[in-house]
Amino acid sequence: MRYRENASVDTSSVRDMRGGGGRLGGGRGLAVGGGGVGLVGLVVIVLFQLIGGGGGTGAALGGLAGLGQGEQVDNSQLRASCRDGGDANASVDCAVAADIESIQDFWSGELGGRYRPAETVYFSGSVQTGCGGATSGSGPFYCPADQLVYIDLSFFDELRQKFGAEGGLFVNAYVIAHEYGHHVQNLLGTNQQVNPGETGPTSGTVRLELQADCYAGAWANHAETVPDDSGAPLIAEISQDDVSRALDTAGRIGDDFIQKNLGNGTVNQDAFTHGSSEQRRTWFTTGYQGGSVDGCDTFATDDLG
Ligand SMILES: [Zn+2]
Repeated sequence: MRYRENASVDTSSVRDMRGGGGRLGGGRGLAVGGGGVGLVGLVVIVLFQLIGGGGGTGAALGGLAGLGQGEQVDNSQLRASCRDGGDANASVDCAVAADIESIQDFWSGELGGRYRPAETVYFSGSVQTGCGGATSGSGPFYCPADQLVYIDLSFFDELRQKFGAEGGLFVNAYVIAHEYGHHVQNLLGTNQQVNPGETGPTSGTVRLELQADCYAGAWANHAETVPDDSGAPLIAEISQDDVSRALDTAGRIGDDFIQKNLGNGTVNQDAFTHGSSEQRRTWFTTGYQGGSVDGCDTFATDDLG
């Protein structure tokens, strides 16, 4: 994937909370949750991850004492270093900011006034959210309570090292687009049709996840044409190799793959939360080839692939 060299990149949808300077700046970081230990237990935790099962979610969510310190937003470095598409081609931090912009431009076009932009929090290690405390072990996720996407960008290394994925800028974009798919579901009320704890291969939980994969594919179909604020697309090219890499990743974050390779070795369909590897590939492909949001109605079919 290549970004258009001269396209200007807007980092205003990113809240950089990775620390490392600027501790006096920002101050918006603790708007949610209040940061109090003990509060976490009172929050009903419903959030939407990229991965489920026994894989990257070992140290998922819970009462993490001491969270909240140093959680200031400091976007100055990101803003200074991510100015254009050339920066996005050279830096993952900037590329993800550009992805977010392209993805939200797409959804604004699709949904018009029904779409409300959501910000993404870059964090490092652990973070306090409207859905409780989280660590990097949760993988990237969307929290409906505060309508924010959260990601520790080191997850992209984990995808390659732990999951064996090929990786690449477009794989990263697929991950982000999946999480924004959950934001769209939240705006449209789709997630409210589903019982949060439900699992299994045809469960509402799995249908939501597969729809988020399909939405990511639908964005990718339009990514080279969707205009940014200047009227030109931010993304210059998505290659066949990029798409193959995304499908490779989709196959490695399926419940069966994770259970087999990163869990206890046996596949238990009843515990599925995100769909099988094949289902995830299928629904990403459905979105990517069709380019239609309506084609992503995973609730309207008995054939989930
Ligand atoms: Zn998800």
